[in-house]
Parts: sequence; structure tokens; C-alpha cells
Amino acid sequence: MSFSFEVKKADASGARVGRLTTPHGAVTTPVFMPVGTAASVKALTQEALEELGAEIILGNTYHLYLRPGHELIRKLGGLHRFMAWPRSILTDSGGYQVFSLSELRKITDEGVRFRSHLDGSEHLLTPEKAAEVQLALGSDIAMVLDECIETPAPREAAESALKRTTVWAGRARKHFLEYATRNGELAQWQFGIVQGATFADLRRESARQLLELDFPGYAVGGLAVGEPQALTCEMTGEVAALLPSERPRYLMGVGRPEQLADYVALGIDMMDCVLPTRAARHACLYTSEGRVLIKNARYAQDTQPIDPACSCSVCRRYSRAYLRHLFAAGEITAAILATHHNVHFYLDIMRQIREAIEFGNLAKFSSAMHARYAAGPS
Ligand SMILES: [Zn+2]
Repeated sequence: MSFSFEVKKADASGARVGRLTTPHGAVTTPVFMPVGTAASVKALTQEALEELGAEIILGNTYHLYLRPGHELIRKLGGLHRFMAWPRSILTDSGGYQVFSLSELRKITDEGVRFRSHLDGSEHLLTPEKAAEVQLALGSDIAMVLDECIETPAPREAAESALKRTTVWAGRARKHFLEYATRNGELAQWQFGIVQGATFADLRRESARQLLELDFPGYAVGGLAVGEPQALTCEMTGEVAALLPSERPRYLMGVGRPEQLADYVALGIDMMDCVLPTRAARHACLYTSEGRVLIKNARYAQDTQPIDPACSCSVCRRYSRAYLRHLFAAGEITAAILATHHNVHFYLDIMRQIREAIEFGNLAKFSSAMHARYAAGPS
């Protein structure tokens, strides 16, 4: 089985339900991908992820490259076998973490030189190297190395990063096509990343330049990094309008529960974010009524589930009072149960979004979500 993407249904807004197929199975889109930073979605086992119905997860190339190392993972049969995850995996290029986590980074046309945040060792990440590492990991979808800049960015910085991102994408594409074929078939799909900060014309220019490289899918990067959500949507809309409708579109690093439908309405098929897992570890639970900060004293004697409307195994069994106690006592189980619920909640929102597209009422679903999250828990 190889790679394909098919749009099954689109509504008037441009939101679509589709099916992405990789050698590791089918992924119903629009999809939210839980983030498995270091070959692990924090606090969840792969069994739990399967039970939750996750069809694709994300792995971070930067972390896996530094530890345990991509060559070790290749030797052990690739990332799927190493982490015992039979379904699809998307890996990022490592660029975002190099720019946000590492020390002493120096960007040149060749690539980005950085020191590991673990042991201070020096490394050079080039577009070719990022492609090679991801091929060694054996993920289903790989991302090209792009230049990430801080926002808000002055126009000159955005222009220069855009220029470099296009050149790097061309080099990554060429290198990938030389090495990614196995027995005449592609072993992986490689996606391009549209940059251009918050300048609509630069976003359009970036998209046009990347389209010439003929990627099977396109991502929108460098957004949801502190700018107002209206601007995230405006930039995403500018880019999505130019991208080919028959190829998957991935908005990187989003978003809050009530925002997911907004991005889908702009024609986005794939999203990822550390929010549901990170917030869970900080005792912040997402529910159909808004956020629940479970450490709050008001839950001390609350025998209700986290979310009475939730069908997850945690809500079927445990009370708010128990969850609050686990967090107060610093028990590891607190993170496990909270993460399980939050990931279930996100995947369930995506299921409801797909259903709303089928029935033509996505806008109604979206405004109801915004209203609930603005109002907070009852
Ligand atoms: Zn639940």
C-alpha cells in the first residue's frame, strides 16, 4: 500500500472530509495529531493511543536525532517498530526545536549550527540532513527544514527567511527524491512548509514558490506563535486558497479546542499541538463546558466525572474529587488520566467536526464551541 489523499466531501466554506492513506493505514481527515515528542506521547502508552482511536501521531526529529539517535532507530527497524506504534507517524524537520530549544544557533545558507540542549555537543542541521534523519526514522510523512523566525517579525526578516526557506525546500526536495525511493516506490511523503510571517503577500509568494517544487502536501508554518487568532486565520486563508485542493493541508502547532473548527473551515486537513497533553500535566482539563482547572478547591468533594458528556474511559470511572486528589498528592496517575481525557476530548472534537461537515453545519458547531469556551465551566 502506498500514499494517497482523497477529498470525500467539502462544504460551502471549503472545509473538507478526506482520507489520507499511508503504508501504516488510513487517516480520516480533518485530523488532530497528538504530539509524541521523544517517541512517546507523554503519559500515554501506545495501547492507550490505539484505544483513543489516534490514527496518526507526530514525532519530533530534533529530540530523536539527539537521543537515542536516528541511526540507532534505523538499526532497530525504524520508529514504528522501535516505539511499537503500527499506525501512521509524521515527523517535523527538527527546525522548530533548533530555533526554540538549542543554544548558540547560527544560521547560514548551508543550514543551522546549534548546540544540543542535552549535552552541549555541536551539530549542523541542513535541509539534506533533516531529510536524511527523517528517512532513517522511517516516518510516513516528513517535513522540510524551514527557517523559523520570531514574531512579530519585521518585514525584512520575514522576506529573508522566506527566501531561505524556498531555497532550502528545493534542496530538501532534490535530496529526498534521490534517496526516498525503495523498490521503485516512495518510502515516505515529504511536505513543504509555507512561511511569510504575518504578511499576506509574502505568504502568497511562499506558497507559489513551493508549489513549483510539487510536494504531495503542504503545511502552513510559523503561525499561532503569539499573534491574534484572527491574524492566524487570515494568513491561513490566504495560503489555503492557493494550495491545490486535491492535496492535504497541514496547519502546524494549533490550537485551542474552540479554534480547531475555525481552521478546518479554512480548508485545513491536519493539525497538531502539545496543548491537550501539556495542559493535562498542568491539571487543566478540556471539557464540553469549557476548561476545568481540577486543582481548584471547588472540586474537592465533586463526585461527577471530569466531563459528564464525555465517553472516555477516565470519565466513565473516576471522579473530579479523585483527579484533584491525585494532582494534590503528586501522583503520576494524575498526568496519565488527565492526558487520556484531554486527548480523547480533542479527537472527539475532530469527529464532531467531520460530522458537522457531512451535515453542513460546521459554522453552527464552531460558534457553539466558542460560546461555551468564552463562558467557561458552569
Ligand atoms: Zn473524558
